[in-house]
Amino acid sequence: MPTIDEELDRKSHLYSLIMPVMNQFLPNLQNGKGMYFLFVKSESKTPSGLPARPVLTSYYKSRHFARARAANDPYTNYTSPTETILCNDTHQSMYSQLLCGLVLRHEVLRVGAVFASGFIRAIKFFENNWTSLCKDVRNGTVDHRIVTDPVVRLAVSRVLVGPNPGLADFLERECRRDDTSSSPSWRGIIPRVWSNCKYIDVIVTGAMSQYIPAIDHYGGGSLPLVCSMYASSECYFGLNLNPLCNPDEVLYTLVPTMAYFEFLPVDRFVEKEIKLVDLVDVKLGQEYELVVTTYAGLYRYRVGDVLRVGGFKNKAPQFTFVCRKNVVLSIDSDKTDEVELQTAVTRAAVQHLAPLGASLVEYTSYAETSNVPGHYVLFWEIDNGVMIERSSSTVSESCLAVEEGLNSVYRQGRVWDSSIGPLEIRVVESGTFDAIMDHAVTELGASINQYKTPRCVKRGPIFEMLNSRVVSSHFSPRLPKWAP
Ligand code: AMP
Repeated sequence: MPTIDEELDRKSHLYSLIMPVMNQFLPNLQNGKGMYFLFVKSESKTPSGLPARPVLTSYYKSRHFARARAANDPYTNYTSPTETILCNDTHQSMYSQLLCGLVLRHEVLRVGAVFASGFIRAIKFFENNWTSLCKDVRNGTVDHRIVTDPVVRLAVSRVLVGPNPGLADFLERECRRDDTSSSPSWRGIIPRVWSNCKYIDVIVTGAMSQYIPAIDHYGGGSLPLVCSMYASSECYFGLNLNPLCNPDEVLYTLVPTMAYFEFLPVDRFVEKEIKLVDLVDVKLGQEYELVVTTYAGLYRYRVGDVLRVGGFKNKAPQFTFVCRKNVVLSIDSDKTDEVELQTAVTRAAVQHLAPLGASLVEYTSYAETSNVPGHYVLFWEIDNGVMIERSSSTVSESCLAVEEGLNSVYRQGRVWDSSIGPLEIRVVESGTFDAIMDHAVTELGASINQYKTPRCVKRGPIFEMLNSRVVSSHFSPRLPKWAP
């Protein structure tokens, strides 16, 4: 995406509106801090020498961010020192940010991350590393085996100020707390440890809604989930002006100075002459695809998001996020569409099944998020599966081949930030996809002429049918190739 220096002013402006909105509902947030898990990703250069990096990495490295933090801007008043955010090693960064968040726990009034997936990953990291974290809290140290970067160590040691055995005892008690007598329960760990916290600030609309149960588990069901903004790499869009509403009622109000917004009515995709609608002309209840013309140079660019007009603030339309067009799988910031999945699967099948005289009859996919990190699951029905069983590595090599065929954001999630786990193929019995079609036709009233295998499934009867017919499960044996 092209971007220009002045875009950072626009982004900073949008960020500066968030705390005033929040303070209307939860006053005095400026009196405390936010424990946010924020990370940078790797950078590269375009052939012409321009830096290329994710939009948030640009922001965290910008003078705008540094200035806001130096000025104690309430939005950026985080428990994490900037050095811990800018640390390239996700593991060190996560550990350091958690350690600071624990030590400053009384000051924490809000917790969050950009997307729900990142927040869950951080809390899971806490669950896996609490003994080392408590030890560091007790001794006022930073474990040198985990955090090796001297700049980060210095920044964290400034927050620690000294040994704190009282806090360490408290944390150990909470982390060990035995609800079930068989295993420690982490339900409600956030309000237990960060007892002044008023809300969890994470995006749980769109693809991220799959993480709501997990966040509610850690939040104990008592903390509101706040989706404060709607943004993209192309440009930032708008804010949620009613942040304490339920996730399924979230409406985003577009800020008209962010870009020039136009809307493509979704039921007109098939018409020859496509008429774009201006922001002032959108109609309540109608769905539109968002089209932006940005200051940085995108002209009438289709973002790929479908929005529905859900209401108005004065005369400003407010939108529900309906979906991202064509995306079938998403675990973190990856978005895999149907065409890309099809290409990667076909290529893997040609590479690994065809030489053994086998072929792929049908497939579908599922985003498995019950473990952290989540991973892609493909259900494969293979013709001549006997040949495959004789060569046990064939399917796992196919997993890797599919991963190699997916986009760079997916592979970056696998390799750089470990936010996505190894891809899994579950081989299903022969006849499974016929049974699914029968189910669709007889139980769901699908037309047999127009029936198409769903390329992605969610939890429900079809998912259960697939799982009950799994004959073997295989995981990608190695990380796919990825270079910044
Ligand atoms: P990226 O450019 O990778 O940051 O992704 C931007 C995309 O993430 C948007 O176009 C949306 O599809 C999705 N997204 C961003 N913010 C939200 C939100 N608040 N709710 C739902 N989806 C979102």
